[in-house]
Amino acid sequence: MLNIVIFGAPGSGKGTQSLRIVEKYGLNHISTGDVLRAEIKNGTELGQTAKGYIDQGQLIPDELMIDILASVLDGFQDSKGVIFDGFPRTIAQAEALKKMLAERGQEVSVMIDLDVPEEELMGRLIRRGIDSGRADDNEETIRKRLEVYHSQTAPLIDWFKGENKYHHIAGMGSMEEISAKIAQAIDSL
Ligand code: ATP
Ligand code: MG
Repeated sequence: MLNIVIFGAPGSGKGTQSLRIVEKYGLNHISTGDVLRAEIKNGTELGQTAKGYIDQGQLIPDELMIDILASVLDGFQDSKGVIFDGFPRTIAQAEALKKMLAERGQEVSVMIDLDVPEEELMGRLIRRGIDSGRADDNEETIRKRLEVYHSQTAPLIDWFKGENKYHHIAGMGSMEEISAKIAQAIDSL
């Protein structure tokens, strides 16, 4: 089983690269951002709760997010492995993921950190906001998300280093160049 955590700040290219890895390795894909956006679109109660946090650039509370993740994971049958995109985003989520996988006799294979300079992130997200109309891709909310990334999510870099799962990738370059570097990291496992 390949369980890959794709990690990085907002706009680092997690979603784009995940789709390419899914195709190449035939993995299941969990994007917690996509799951939440689908709930919002369907007007569910969970979606309404999530929208309040997302529009403020804040994270959804851990307990809620962990329950959502567990139920998506349970839906995968005969999986070759999973790519976790946008999860974990806090130490509590990382601990919960470790436990969840251990209960299934599995573990994270590698955490791939897509490292992209901040000026580049801001530009990419502003452009994405114009193209896609994603409500949280506006300058004020992006700043908040980057702050939340630094305070709550970036500490996971050391956490995964401590687990011996950390793999750094310079996230500047073409999509193909970055995919090639990710594939190299996966193939060397
Ligand atoms: P990228 O552009 O690299 O795909 P992103 O940060 O722009 O990353 P999503 O991963 O789609 O976007 O997340 C959007 C929002 O959904 C987050 O700002 C947060 O409010 C919420 N969210 C997503 N995943 C989590 C999580 N694991 N824990 C808490 N909140 C989450
Ligand atoms: Mg995404």
